[in-house]
Formats: sequence, C-alpha cells, structure tokens
Amino acid sequence: METIVEDILRWSPERIKELQGKRLREAVSRCFRGHPHYRKLMERQGITPDDIQTIDDLENFPVTTKADFVANPEAFRLQLDDLPVEDQALSRIIYTTGSTTGVPAPVYVTAADHYDYMLRSVRRRDFIDIRKGDLMVSLFPLTPYPMGAAGRAIAEASACGAALLETNPGHSGDLVSPHRRTAEIMELVLEHQPHILWGIPSYVLKFLKSVASTGQQLHRLRVVMVTGEGLSKAMEQNIRDAMTAVGAEDNNVVNRYGSTEQGSAMVECVPGSGFHDLAPDSVFMEVLDPETGKRCPDGVEGELAFTHLNRSGTTLLRFAVGDRAVLSHEPCPHCGRTGSARMVSGPFRSGDIVKVKGTLVNLAAMCDLVSKTPGVEDMQVIVEYKDGLDSLRIRVAPHESVSVDKDSFVDRVQRVVQKATSITPQIETVSMGDLIGAAAAGKLRRVIDQRKES
Ligand SMILES: [Zn+2]
Repeated sequence: METIVEDILRWSPERIKELQGKRLREAVSRCFRGHPHYRKLMERQGITPDDIQTIDDLENFPVTTKADFVANPEAFRLQLDDLPVEDQALSRIIYTTGSTTGVPAPVYVTAADHYDYMLRSVRRRDFIDIRKGDLMVSLFPLTPYPMGAAGRAIAEASACGAALLETNPGHSGDLVSPHRRTAEIMELVLEHQPHILWGIPSYVLKFLKSVASTGQQLHRLRVVMVTGEGLSKAMEQNIRDAMTAVGAEDNNVVNRYGSTEQGSAMVECVPGSGFHDLAPDSVFMEVLDPETGKRCPDGVEGELAFTHLNRSGTTLLRFAVGDRAVLSHEPCPHCGRTGSARMVSGPFRSGDIVKVKGTLVNLAAMCDLVSKTPGVEDMQVIVEYKDGLDSLRIRVAPHESVSVDKDSFVDRVQRVVQKATSITPQIETVSMGDLIGAAAAGKLRRVIDQRKES
C-alpha cells in the first residue's frame, strides 16, 4: 500500500521519465500485439515497438485525433487474451461525445483501469479534500449514455472512504423515468446534508441558488467539485458566494480538468497554480505543434495530447484532445512538486479561435471578459450565418440585480465584445434557466459555431 499512495509527484523529473519510458515500452508492445488501430498504423508506417523505447522516441509516433477515434472506437479497444484477468474483464462502458455528428463513442474500462483510477483518487486526496466519513453528492445528470464523470464519482468516493449519493437530474418531458426534478433533489440533499457536491458548474450554481432562495442551509458543505465545462473566474466566485449563502462550513471550489477518453483529472494545488498532471505514471501529457506533430518545449502553446501508459481497455497514444495549452515541468512555486507537468496556460478549446467576418477572434478570451463584466451571471456565444454574413450573437443571463436597467446592461456587454473583437454583436438577454435549459444534459456550451454544425 505504501508505494501505491506514495506522492510520486515529488519524484525527480528524471525518475518519473524513466518510469514513463518503462511503461510506454509495455504499452506500445501491447498495442502492436493487440490494438486493431495501432497495429495497423504501425505496420503501415513501418514502426516497430523497438522504435519507441523512451518518452523522447514517442515524438516520432503519429498523432491520433478525436476524428480518428470516433470514426471507429471499437478499433481502439485493446484485445489480448494472454493478459491477467483484471486487464481483460470489462468493468464498465462510458461514452464520450462524438465530433460534429453528436453520436457518442464508447470508452471501454477494464477492471485494471477501474482499480488504477481508484488508486489515483487516493493520491489526489492531497489536492482534493475528500475525507473518510464524508458524504459526497453527485449532481451529474442521469443520461442514456453513461458519462465519464458520473460513473467515476462512485469510484472516487469509495476509494477515499466516503459515501456517495446520486441524485439523477435530467428530467425530460413526459417520459416515465427515475430522474428527479431540482425541487426533489433539493429536498433529498437537504435531508442528507453532504460535505461535498460534484457536478457541472452551471448546474451546481443553479442548485445552490435554489437552496439559498429558500433560506435553508447546507451547513456541512465544504467542497464543491466541478468538471465538464470551462470555469471562468467569475463563475468560480459565484459558486463560492452561493456556498456562503447556504451557510456552508467552507467554500472550496475544485475545478477538475480531464476528458472521458483520458480517464484522469488534472487539478490545481492552489487556485492559480495551473492544473497538475496527477497521474504521470498512467498518462503522459505533452503539447504538440499542430502543423508538425512535434513536441513543443515548455512555455510554448500548442495542442494538448496524452498517451495512456497502462490502460487495457480503450487505449490511446498521442491523442490530441482538441484543447490548446502551455505546459511547464518546473517545480510548482506553490507546492514544490517536481514530478509532472503543470498546465500553466489554458486549456483553450482549439475551436475557440475562429475567423468571423475575416478577423481571427479568440472566443474563449472574449467569453472570459464577458463573464467578468459586472452584472453578468453567465453567457453563451453563437457564431452563425445571417443574411449570408458571419454574425456573433451573445446570449447573456443577467444577475438578478440587473433587472431595473437592462438597456445599459446590454450596452455594457456590447462594448466589452466590441473592444475585444472589433465586431458588433447582437446581444440577447435570457434567464439563467433558459441558458441552462437549452443545454444538452445540463451541460452549457459557451461557444457554438453554427457555421460548422449546420
Ligand atoms: Zn502545486
């Protein structure tokens, strides 16, 4: 047990790199023997496992894109019948959103993958305050295709000796289903008085505000974990304020960055430290030059990619996740950890920098500015064709205090967007409920480029 929970993030970079190299050799050899996609790719490109002996050699391995994966997810599942039973037994299937088609793609998780996730959860306790005896509430929607985070909540809680309450939001229409409406969830959560809430930021905030509006308290609440959507500084502060408003014992907000495909999460040791890679023994992170596929040095922005080092279900090598970021391997100035990469800038969605009316616009940066504008609760930007021209439509949910003076509020938002992009947007004020209600599975997409999706 000692070695399992050892904080390997305090190992020297050299020692980590050596371990990663050893695991990479095993992973590549397994893929060559029994991974339909990579076996074919390696044969086609004349690559043998001997060519990929170290983390540095990995630079010569082709990049896998999300499009490659969703085109044939079954081909990414490792199939070897000579591995230990834990590496062959299927523990669960989770689904990742498809590319533009929206068809979810299955991600296979073996027992070994599941155990590995639980062990990493134990290691994460240094970053996330989950205590033995805590009660955690999952506010993730109950979806027909199980989401990664929803399934992992039970693994994480149980690994840390906490209990989990699943609330099953996501009621839709007249369908007879076990989903609960927000009022029912509120009643249930108030009865249980949890220490930790975990969900999608916009839904967690909506939930806490509903509780606050009734004057009832969640006095044991200490931690809110959020994942699945970008979290602006303004949103983070709104959640903290909402925790205070429900009488929470503490107001820690933990933003988790990860992906269903990766099967791991990156978190900050303190707000603003940058996301730490918490599993350098399971996942190798790098940033790539999108043109050449070569690894970018520290401090240079590129496409974030990861390589599974010990997966036995769905296995991905040099998988470009679709986000841009800057990594650093310098010791963290806050916690002093030396053993893994930290994302010092980003993540930015690659699709966030787009051409609108002939001008390159960083929609992520613009969203951040609008979110910080006084009176803005949350927002969504839609890029669309209107009368044959590109146009920018911003849907903004004003804070309750704004209702008296909507015109000047709209002007204010418009000025922020004009200053950031030199484009005059159409501003639409909507309620927070409308903004979240329109989102599939309660997940608010801040940027929608309808030109690509139509
Ligand atoms: Zn740190």
